[in-house]
Amino acid sequence: MRIRLTNCSLINKNLLILDRAIQIEDGLIEAKGSMQDSIRWPKADKELSLTGYIVLPGLMDAHMHLLNWALRHNQPSLDDVRSIDELLLLLGNQVHKQQEEGDSRPIVLGGWNEELYPEHRPPTLQELDEISGQIPIVLTRICGHVCVVNSAILRDFAWQEFASKEPGSVGFDQDGQPNGFLSESAMMKLLSLHENMSNNKQKELLLLGLKSMAAYGLTAIASQETNSLDDLDFLTALMEIYEKEEALPAYCAQIGLSHPDEIPEFLALREEFRGHPDITISSIKLFKDGSLGGRTALLHEPYCDEPSKTGLDLIPYTDLLQWFQKANKAGVQLTIHAIGDRAIAEIISAFTEACRTDPERANPNRHTIIHCQITDDDLLRRLSETNLAVIAQPLFARSDWSMALSRLGETRRNLAYDYRCVVDLGIHQAFSSDSPIESANPLLTLAAAIDHPQPDKSLSLSEAVAASSVEVAYILGMEGKSGQLDPGSPADITVIKARSEAELQAAYLRQLSIALTIREGKIIYRDPEI
Ligand SMILES: [Zn+2]
Repeated sequence: MRIRLTNCSLINKNLLILDRAIQIEDGLIEAKGSMQDSIRWPKADKELSLTGYIVLPGLMDAHMHLLNWALRHNQPSLDDVRSIDELLLLLGNQVHKQQEEGDSRPIVLGGWNEELYPEHRPPTLQELDEISGQIPIVLTRICGHVCVVNSAILRDFAWQEFASKEPGSVGFDQDGQPNGFLSESAMMKLLSLHENMSNNKQKELLLLGLKSMAAYGLTAIASQETNSLDDLDFLTALMEIYEKEEALPAYCAQIGLSHPDEIPEFLALREEFRGHPDITISSIKLFKDGSLGGRTALLHEPYCDEPSKTGLDLIPYTDLLQWFQKANKAGVQLTIHAIGDRAIAEIISAFTEACRTDPERANPNRHTIIHCQITDDDLLRRLSETNLAVIAQPLFARSDWSMALSRLGETRRNLAYDYRCVVDLGIHQAFSSDSPIESANPLLTLAAAIDHPQPDKSLSLSEAVAASSVEVAYILGMEGKSGQLDPGSPADITVIKARSEAELQAAYLRQLSIALTIREGKIIYRDPEI
């Protein structure tokens, strides 16, 4: 079927070209030109007049957590809480509701952020115990790297094992007793014990997530749901969803592993999905460090607001080197979470040491640093000398700005979050939301990228769109196929309800909604007005 989009506008640099038309056939863009040109094109079966709206290449999210996003939108969340009192009230209500229903299952809620509270501190073990000594409670921080739990959790959870294996991942009070704060592997283990979801529940949540992403204008997402090859039920749920539903964004899985010996099993999984029209097993996801908010990001110099800490090193250098060597040999992509400057520096060194030949140095597997946040000019210059790519979250700069000042001090903070310098150095940089940490709405990401807290680090809109389309395609190994609006490319298209250049300013962009999302020529979201 031939579909023609008429009366739309396109962006060229920062200018709008009006009165355009695009024709789609067989999932591909067949023609692009002026309304005048379109008179000569083969007749379309269906025409959609877009009343001046702006057509972008299909927007994609290079890293998020879809299941967690859906879970957060399906149960009370701490995202909008603005004080400890409000948090405890919300938690108390949840406990009360469960008690009335005779439900003693653990309560796992996410999204607290002490930076937003007048008390400037997280909730405590004692406060949670006062609300319930019986029902186990886990409250995760917005960053997803730290949580606070009540005594009912500590009674059953083998925290001692982590206190010796990964010092720093279990918090202690002055008397040497656990203070209820768990981070990184201790927290991941705890959550994996409490996140046993039925296949139906997973399906319900993933479908809600994928439909919502289409409504946000996303044609593809790369997402991490698991930290283990033993926990792949979500893939079964996804396969069942895609069998029934035609109109959804593409899904690329980033799978967390803990040892390079698991690479063969990962390869077998990737092979199993080869050729699947909707699901790709995309990369191995690793954590080199934690979060800035939780003071677990690995820094060269101590945290300004807790000078005894420099963060956690979750993959020692020699192990990192092995990861790169084995991944290169196997031809698999590593996407490595790294926020702190020391974490990033070690990844650069390990990649450089592992890649001995020119073909390896060209980074054909597209090894990528996710976040790459605390940098300075010298570190970014070193990064640009490798071919490592970056997945960045422009929304973090705005959300973190004052917190980063307390953690890092002015000098380090002002050099960090430099999306501008990454582009200028020619480093491949794709954008992502890391949702549910930030909103999955890609227009908010674009707005954040063109409106950096330090204006000279802002990108132009077309640079930001490129980072959310063609650069994501590059990192996902789909370049040349997706992310552009040229004839012959897959018809992946996002139409935003803006009609003028003025509406492309950050403040307006944040309010805009999506008119149409098209993936491979299929409409996967359509605003009722169109
Ligand atoms: Zn993430």
